[in-house]
Amino acid sequence: MKQAAVALLFTAFAFAQTRQVTDADVQKVTRSAILIDTHNDVTSRTVDGFDIGEPATQGHTDLPRLRQGGVGAVFFAVYVSGSYTSGNHSANRALQMIDTVRHDIIAGHPKDFMLALTADDIEKAHREGKIAALMGIEGGHAIEDSPRLLRDFYDLGVRYMTLTHANTNNWADSSGDMDKTSVEHHNGLTPLGRQIVQEMNRLGMMVDISHVADKTFWDAIETSTAPLFASHSSCRALANVPRNMTDEMIVALAKKAAWFKSTSTAVSFQPTAPPGRRSPTWWPTSTMSGGSRVSAPWASAAISMA
Ligand SMILES: [Zn+2]
Repeated sequence: MKQAAVALLFTAFAFAQTRQVTDADVQKVTRSAILIDTHNDVTSRTVDGFDIGEPATQGHTDLPRLRQGGVGAVFFAVYVSGSYTSGNHSANRALQMIDTVRHDIIAGHPKDFMLALTADDIEKAHREGKIAALMGIEGGHAIEDSPRLLRDFYDLGVRYMTLTHANTNNWADSSGDMDKTSVEHHNGLTPLGRQIVQEMNRLGMMVDISHVADKTFWDAIETSTAPLFASHSSCRALANVPRNMTDEMIVALAKKAAWFKSTSTAVSFQPTAPPGRRSPTWWPTSTMSGGSRVSAPWASAAISMA
């Protein structure tokens, strides 16, 4: 565990155990920077009619708490369950999820949310006192193996895509089913998978490696001409499950960013629980000060090679 970011997390844990973190402590941090939630699944509720503007009795996200927590930008998940591959309805579901972001969340609350398509848009929203709303597809099967659909989704505002969800698709292996012999695996990315990564690079859509199998990660590292991104992964050293990253992966991700002299690559450390334990009980509750809890109990940290 040599990464500075990880050391920071450990420091945070140790600190949290010695005294109660106050709302003022949290707000001092969140007001000093644009706090970005890189993967928010509230869309799975808004698509079924939940109004994000109303205080929620379930889940972690609603507008009052986003405001209270000082969240500056949210990547809303355009999550497409692997079940939609049955009958080939994945792109249809992706369109519905995009619609709930654009119609229910942004258009439904124009004083609070602004569609952001660029980094400049995030800063513009911040200056106007709004929360920047961005979109990331979760599950590469959403494009139904078509670079043309990938381009369409980009045009609708999608700015990252996880190459897989928990299901291996036709061009990339997932960490979620590598132990299933009934699934046809590809040993990482297929030639189409590499083509899709290259097209994402060309478009300016971030290649998100959360959920992918290890070999898919290394193939993406080799193929991508831009820094990679992990929107919601954790460290295997902390929670040893296949969808988390090894130290070697985290270092490779950082080196890839350093090669491009980029400061933008980040891993969002999500408290994925060890097998058999649920995240909310595993996560130290003392780090979640009630009034200032953001949309999900994770911490995000830029990776430093220092
Ligand atoms: Zn996920």
